[in-house]
Amino acid sequence: KPVLVWFRDDHRLSDNPALSAAAATGSQVLCFYVLDDESEGIRPLGAAACWWLHGSLKALSETLERAGSSLLILKGSALDLVESVVRETGASAVYWNRRYGAAEIAVDSAIKKRLSDAGIKVHSCSGRLLHEPWEITNQAGKPFQVFTPYLRAVNARSIKPPLPAPRRLKGGVWPRSILDRAIPLTELGLEPSFPDWAGGMRQVWERGEHAAQARFSRFIETGLKGYAERRDLPSQEGSSRLSPHLRFGEISPRQVWHAVMNAVAAEPGLGPDAEKFLSEIAWRDFTYQLLHFHPHLPDKPHSSRFDNFPWIQDRPSLKAWQKGLTGYPIVDAGMRQLWQTGWMHNRVRMITASFLVKHLLTDWRQGEAWFWDTLVDADPANNAFSWQWIAGSGPDSAPFHRIFNPVTQGEKFDPEGDYIRTFMPELSQLPPGFVHKPWEAPPAVLREAGVVLGETYPKPIVPHGPARERALEAFRSLRGLA
Ligand code: FAD
Repeated sequence: KPVLVWFRDDHRLSDNPALSAAAATGSQVLCFYVLDDESEGIRPLGAAACWWLHGSLKALSETLERAGSSLLILKGSALDLVESVVRETGASAVYWNRRYGAAEIAVDSAIKKRLSDAGIKVHSCSGRLLHEPWEITNQAGKPFQVFTPYLRAVNARSIKPPLPAPRRLKGGVWPRSILDRAIPLTELGLEPSFPDWAGGMRQVWERGEHAAQARFSRFIETGLKGYAERRDLPSQEGSSRLSPHLRFGEISPRQVWHAVMNAVAAEPGLGPDAEKFLSEIAWRDFTYQLLHFHPHLPDKPHSSRFDNFPWIQDRPSLKAWQKGLTGYPIVDAGMRQLWQTGWMHNRVRMITASFLVKHLLTDWRQGEAWFWDTLVDADPANNAFSWQWIAGSGPDSAPFHRIFNPVTQGEKFDPEGDYIRTFMPELSQLPPGFVHKPWEAPPAVLREAGVVLGETYPKPIVPHGPARERALEAFRSLRGLA
């Protein structure tokens, strides 16, 4: 009898515990993926993530074929599909790596129950995180709400070494009845056809396990040294850009962790940079832990004090933010980087998110939804947590009254304006002194740079000072927060 491996956001052969366990049975291994667009509560992927998924599945399918197996793709309700795949293949067991969102857990539990009742074994493995969310607890056995003690607890535990890819998979033959329901990748509609808006993303990214490993090796060789400082400079490639690869499981956090530790063992001088980088990897685990224990993280303020926050509905401002037309260059450059490449630098994510929530007093969920649609790394835990963190409503949040000033942030982290120049051709001729505040430039400087405020580039849609006061006033109106 064959065994089945159900791939879900773990698009890799190396360090894939479900795949390795299935291969170790010595049985034929049949691999499949389900694009679940029917189960209740499963959030459809945004457009940029769909684009990534297409390339990721293509790469996974090719690697599986090289290893002796293949990837079958189905579309519909996972509950029904997985059950019929098991029945029609006569498989003895199903292997998968765990998921942590409430809707996903509900689907997996229902499948597990149905299959167990029919005498089929389901093996759920741990492949997405460094540790399972329930493994890291405080002394009272409760999950952490604050990152620093969480990180301390992570650092005090050992992290399992990554598994090698199974050397050879014993492939099997799918029954006709299932092949008839399989959908060719190109017919899933994940890649845009017309208009093809993915050109900018194609230029920047290569998808799949092989590309993830190559990017990571490059980062270890040339990016890790100096990471702690360079990660905050948006004009530089100072961070790993592994986020979409981690999001789709093309590389595992355990692989990342151990490779970084090995690099430090070989070159102890890397220690402080490695420590900073690994703490970011631990943030990712932390947000998954929060999502697991607080399933409403993506759609409800964690702190109920924010339930009645006086958000403003202002469609034109929201649109200006989405299009990168707020009149604040660092905000606009970030939003354009996002639109063009499907990714935005972390520092600029913080600035743009703060601008939407605080300067425009727009509900963070609107920003979360836009990022969800446009980020290639749109992640149910990281995105929701980060937006709540910015809004001040999340666990372990920055306080609401910390309001980023988009001009001073720009001047501090992009002093020459190189980041602005990359994404804002209309401002590229402005000298560094004015590139973050064109409205202060004398008429002659604007003329020379070809900038006509209000025509070639907007004036600020809200003035910083009064917007800041308005946000603080709204914040003070909340009971218990003054
Ligand atoms: P590196 O600095 O190289 O970090 C390595 C890895 O650590 C990242 O790939 C990521 O998996 C993890 N990581 C880094 N920073 C964070 C963080 N602050 N929180 C959690 N994990 C982190 N990250 C996503 O992966 N998906 C999202 O949807 C997402 N949405 C965000 C929304 C907002 C408003 C903000 C402020 C941040 C968001 N982040 C999100 C976190 C962070 O910006 C990205 O993970 C990071 O910019 C990715 O770039 P990198 O891979 O080069 O990061």
